[in-house]
Amino acid sequence: MKLRPFLRFPGFRFKALTLSYDDCFVYDIRLKKILDAYNVKCTFNVPTDWLLDRDDPKRKLMTKQEALDLYSDGKCEVACHGSRHLPLAEMPFEMGTRDIISNRLTLEKMFGGVVKGCAYARGSVNERAVEILRCCGIEYARTIDNTGNFDLPEDWLRWDPTCHHDDPRLMELAEEFAKPYNTKQYVWNKHPELFYLWGHSYEFNDENNWEVMENFCKAVSGRDHIWYATNGEIATYVKAYDALRFSADGNTVQNPTCTDVCISCFENDYFIPAGKTVVLKG
Ligand SMILES: [Zn+2]
Repeated sequence: MKLRPFLRFPGFRFKALTLSYDDCFVYDIRLKKILDAYNVKCTFNVPTDWLLDRDDPKRKLMTKQEALDLYSDGKCEVACHGSRHLPLAEMPFEMGTRDIISNRLTLEKMFGGVVKGCAYARGSVNERAVEILRCCGIEYARTIDNTGNFDLPEDWLRWDPTCHHDDPRLMELAEEFAKPYNTKQYVWNKHPELFYLWGHSYEFNDENNWEVMENFCKAVSGRDHIWYATNGEIATYVKAYDALRFSADGNTVQNPTCTDVCISCFENDYFIPAGKTVVLKG
């Protein structure tokens, strides 16, 4: 695993939390209300063809207008999930590519900006699926292979989450994660932590267990040492850290990106502004 002992999240925080919820059913409205109340951020993965006319007898999908109203407030992110939710690993290359690029085009037209994220529909991932995303300009993509830990991803196109919300260890993990960490205490091999939770909002409706999300948010929200961010904000930030350029003596650091980066280097905190060079204490 790639260790990043100097990395600190914005505000010199040691931990970050992100959520990822799929499929765009109307239950996202209730889910987002809970997340907003606790200032917890989520990336919503939207199969755009489903917004138009797919009729599920058991569960209710959102309309295009409902999706626009819900996801356009700047407090969340939208990402690809395949226009038609095709399992990429099982599809011909062309069909898979079309499913992702048409999804990107529609989301960018609907919401503006640049969409660089994805969650693999049906968790269907192999080398070809990764190649399809790369060809479509996707920079980070979530799998459904739960790690049960708080590691940052090794490969952004195979971003394994910590757990699904129905994991029996959910609250145990949440409580462990919520504990503060003394960032001044420098320890080799100790690196910043990310809690990455995923699921589908319709599961709360089907199981009638919305308290699972309420209790999770109560356990992890409102902590000064945790950065609450979307998948995209985390990927952009950590990639900016990875792009830092150090001088041969290690005492000067350049930030060639357009993202400000916080680092903690041998018990000293440094703010490395976007596009600037900073001399460390040596
Ligand atoms: Zn899905």
